[in-house]
Amino acid sequence: MSREGSVGKVILVGAGPGASDLITLRGVRALRTAEAVVYDALAPSELLAIAPAGAERINVGKRGHDPPTRSQDEINKLLVELARAGKTVVRLKGGDPFVFGRGSEEATACYDAGIPFEVIPGITSSIAALAYAGIPVTDRRYAASFAVVTGHRDPTKVREKIRWEGLAASSDTLVILMGMSNLEEIVGHLLAGGRKPKTPAAVVMEGTTARQRVVVAPLSKLVKHARKAGLGAPAAVVVGDVVKLRDSLAWFEQLPLFGKRVLVTRTEEQSVTLRDTLQEAGAEAVVIPMIRIEPVRESPEIDAAFAELAEYDVLLLTSANAARHLAARAEERGSDLAGLRADVVCVGPATASAALEVGFPVDRVPVSRFDAEGMLEEIQRELPPAGRRFLLPRAAKTREVLPEGLRAAGARVDTVAVYRTVPAEVDWQDLGRSLVQGELDVLTFASPSAVRHFFGGLDANAKDAAGCCTIATIGPVTAAAVRAEGLEPEVVPERAEAGALVEALAEHAARRERDGEDDDELSQ
Ligand code: SAH
Repeated sequence: MSREGSVGKVILVGAGPGASDLITLRGVRALRTAEAVVYDALAPSELLAIAPAGAERINVGKRGHDPPTRSQDEINKLLVELARAGKTVVRLKGGDPFVFGRGSEEATACYDAGIPFEVIPGITSSIAALAYAGIPVTDRRYAASFAVVTGHRDPTKVREKIRWEGLAASSDTLVILMGMSNLEEIVGHLLAGGRKPKTPAAVVMEGTTARQRVVVAPLSKLVKHARKAGLGAPAAVVVGDVVKLRDSLAWFEQLPLFGKRVLVTRTEEQSVTLRDTLQEAGAEAVVIPMIRIEPVRESPEIDAAFAELAEYDVLLLTSANAARHLAARAEERGSDLAGLRADVVCVGPATASAALEVGFPVDRVPVSRFDAEGMLEEIQRELPPAGRRFLLPRAAKTREVLPEGLRAAGARVDTVAVYRTVPAEVDWQDLGRSLVQGELDVLTFASPSAVRHFFGGLDANAKDAAGCCTIATIGPVTAAAVRAEGLEPEVVPERAEAGALVEALAEHAARRERDGEDDDELSQ
């Protein structure tokens, strides 16, 4: 979509400290319009998914011990070239672009080349990683000032010494980024600069993520404790009395699913609620959809249903997708849903809210069980189906339990397929690697087709590794599909909602922890 001849622009976007939901609204909007995204290793990968599918994605960052893929000069040139080619370029940077992110050099390169640029600040790890560890950078009781310093070795040694000693004395709270490889030296400078050996200090590694680890020690013992615990980059070091507050303010690590990485396999659109609920419970959601929804646009069934729309007594909506796709078909045909005089019955709150969103007047939400058998039971109780004519929009190739049951109860039922689920494209190698390396704690599935596609795509090693994860399913039919793969789902909530799944996972995690503690007691 780039415009030949016209210059694009570069938007420097702060991606936040690690958790993918710590980006600004304006940053998300910028990503949605991106034609190229230039990112580095610290930018959360989930954010890349926000950019349009056709946007170019260019990794210019280092990963672990790999050599840097490009020098800063090359990155500057790349940004300028992409913008010159007419593209809207998002330069996605960890934390805030202007806090040790070399964002200012990139902005200067744009200025020099006459390229328009914008800067969208981000939540910097220097404040946020600490906040997630329960350490405020200021506090009326303990600290009226804070300084953020780079611990990266400076080639001009003399200046470095003066700076450290001055800083040690001048600021109540000191936050050091990129300090792990020089930690011994830095602590030495601070002590030489007058900081007391007993000053509370901490290292926060991978703050705000499921891998967050924190070590607290008096300044003089910080190196020993941090090294012993194996902490390394990316980590923020904090020195000052505010560290004492961690004892009472470590909120993030108290969340019920803290530290858990949970795979979400639903469709992109359906993953949103589950992802958000997981994140609110302290987990890190890894969204890799196994299935995708495609509309069924034309069929004799659809024609017939719209021709007789006014004849139905009950419109039975069994999923948000059914509601959305029926409304979409109506819109495509220019058909007016006002002609519908049926009672609209939805199964569950998520379906009801989707139905309301697309303009159906929802009359009843009677059903709290979500498998076809449960729905049938409740519909029979709430609304005697006998003699009524039902319209049941649904996915292609679904089980017949519900329509057959309704018919057996004396209803006339027209089913109409308005969408179908198809396997999504998956990077199996990457997923397999995450499984084998034990990077996922929990796998969640909400449909048998997602289960089948998942296990069908993995090699034997990855499949074995998947067996070591906790498996959680929404609904008994999905649970049966997992059993058919030879595995036992450990978490099967009664209600098929994101909230119920997350609650059940939290209970499972708490039970495990209790059992673990019991084991410890036995071994003492
Ligand atoms: N612009 C970034 C900082 C880039 S420098 C920001 O504003 O956060 C990279 C350093 O940031 C790392 O070496 C580490 O010291 C710190 N850092 C980045 N992410 C972090 C995280 N999740 N937890 C702790 N420190 C982090």
